[in-house]
Amino acid sequence: MPVHRFTFAISGLGRLIDLITSVWEINYNKMKLTTTFLLVMFSVIVYSQDIQKLADERIIEFPDIPGYQTLKCDFHQHSVFSDGSVWPNIRVQEAIKDGLDAISITDHIEYQPHKSDIPHPDRNRSFQVALEAGEGNDLIIINGSEITRDMPPGHANAIFLEDVNKLNLNDSIEAYRQAKKRLNLILRCWKNSLAS
Ligand SMILES: [Zn+2]
Repeated sequence: MPVHRFTFAISGLGRLIDLITSVWEINYNKMKLTTTFLLVMFSVIVYSQDIQKLADERIIEFPDIPGYQTLKCDFHQHSVFSDGSVWPNIRVQEAIKDGLDAISITDHIEYQPHKSDIPHPDRNRSFQVALEAGEGNDLIIINGSEITRDMPPGHANAIFLEDVNKLNLNDSIEAYRQAKKRLNLILRCWKNSLAS
């Protein structure tokens, strides 16, 4: 075989090997991609099932008493508008996830540790924000607040208030009188008034 024909044959073989290798690489990459995709899908399915399971487990169940309907309520909650760490809409989302029927965000009137970051002269703000967040849901949101005094009668949650600002008074007894007048329902937090 002449030298130039032999060189051509070698070069042709080299191209064929390159072609086979590149086809194999494409298939290998495709396989890798398919495997990765399947793994991601599997993880998403497992994760979704876990989330659903957690959501189902989170619903609080209380049986109805014969002749009555049991409502699940939380009338003592705080948001960033007093010493809580979340915006009021998070309290609403939590309540919906817990399957509650009614809540009241009873932010402290007097105790305002986030005041420098979130000044709010209107003590009804957490209620208003929660009300907007709960729109379109069955959750009942009630205006309320926590009266926070060092001296007796100490701490108490007052709910069904029309205007929390009316309770923002220096005189403790008068604050309670106002709460009673507008109600309302006063829930004592703790016997020794140490509840936050
Ligand atoms: Zn409290």
